[in-house]
Amino acid sequence: MLKIIEKTTSLKSEHLIFFIQKKKDLEKLSFLKLDTKITKKIHKLIADKKSSSQTFFLWNTKAESLTIVFSLENHNRKLIEFLSQSFSALPSEITIIPNSEKNILTLLDVSVLARYKFEKYKTKKKNIKTKMVISDKKLKSEIKSRYKTLENIILARELWETPACDLTPEAFANIVKQTKFKNTKIKVFSDKDIIKKKMWLIHAVGKGSINKPRMVVLERIVDKKLPTIGIVWKWIVFDTGWLDIKTKMMYEMKDDMCWAGTLFATMKELDDKKLGVNIVACLCLAENSVSGESYRPSDIITSYSGQTVNIVNTDAEGRLVMADGISYISKNYKLDKIMTIATLTWVALFAMGYRYAAIMWNDKKFMNKFLSYSEQNFEMYNRLPFDEYYVEKTKSSIADIDNLTSGIYAGSTMWGAFLYNFVMNGEKYTHLDIAWVANNGYEPYGLYPKGTTGFGVDSISSILQSI
Ligand SMILES: [Zn+2]
Repeated sequence: MLKIIEKTTSLKSEHLIFFIQKKKDLEKLSFLKLDTKITKKIHKLIADKKSSSQTFFLWNTKAESLTIVFSLENHNRKLIEFLSQSFSALPSEITIIPNSEKNILTLLDVSVLARYKFEKYKTKKKNIKTKMVISDKKLKSEIKSRYKTLENIILARELWETPACDLTPEAFANIVKQTKFKNTKIKVFSDKDIIKKKMWLIHAVGKGSINKPRMVVLERIVDKKLPTIGIVWKWIVFDTGWLDIKTKMMYEMKDDMCWAGTLFATMKELDDKKLGVNIVACLCLAENSVSGESYRPSDIITSYSGQTVNIVNTDAEGRLVMADGISYISKNYKLDKIMTIATLTWVALFAMGYRYAAIMWNDKKFMNKFLSYSEQNFEMYNRLPFDEYYVEKTKSSIADIDNLTSGIYAGSTMWGAFLYNFVMNGEKYTHLDIAWVANNGYEPYGLYPKGTTGFGVDSISSILQSI
């Protein structure tokens, strides 16, 4: 929760965070009547200009506690790293007094994203709150707008953390349907619609579960003269692998759902923004369950595109649900670009680690936007190889395409190669593998705690706004 405060005189019994870079900044704290020893010490540090960052934890009669963040850095990655580490240990309610306009949004990002805790299932909640003191009223709308973005990043994190028992394909489709969008139309296809439209791949993956699959299409067509981008995301609410059952990491298999949550949050973020593009987003929702009804390895299934797919492995199901989603929007809308995003591959971890998402395929101009965004921000991307050779290698000896190919080893690229078969009208194609960046399994970094990050909402929405 965020509260904007315009008068420092009303601050009593607060945990205050003050950000300081130069001597003059201290004037903003004059209402606290700081001890002269403290001010002298701060003056000396500023004069020395040796320390890049330090914190002081002080007590004061008016404020319950006061943390002074001393830093000579301006907005950059090093500063954000430092602030995130310091802020994550602060109490649940804090009041920030920024020293300049430049730092306000950085401090807001850190206080909301680095302090985030998933509390939905806790009976006792910490209720993280941030109060921000501003001296210029004009900044209010800028702060509110950024806070909306942060709320959408948090929404993606919350959806990801919610277990499959509460977030079935139907429940998620209902959340999307019930969300108030200003400029976005929602279509939800039930399992019956999926069968009627002959989307046999998504049907096959989801038919073994009592929670039947859904496909949700979000249309944001603002001007037919503008280019249109199609985006496809998957949400496997729980992935057992079925007959190719998971032998490890079963506990983590709700992981497969965060990506549709990210697209939904991104669409929410874009809904009231002025964009130079139209967007058609498709969420493919299913549960890959253990059941006698499920599809089998060696089944051959006809996709919505008409191409047949040989099921080599029932645990390679995410690509199947997305294949029907790609062909659906490619066939039914006039698209200029298609972008696919998902928790693609285990092997992306070995190529990228936890800090970079993989980006690939043939839309160089669009990919470069992601790469230059990466240079300044914490949502970072790097390229993996692509050419027609990999697509050729997805072809099957007994059907049109195999859902898993062995021997090539470029696992993340092969996943994209499989999906590329379902781009039906030669649209430019970009493929993002955010398997490990959206669930940070190692240590906190940047604005991300360990665990769910909401990766993608910030970068994708800001890149789409800049087209
Ligand atoms: Zn799987």
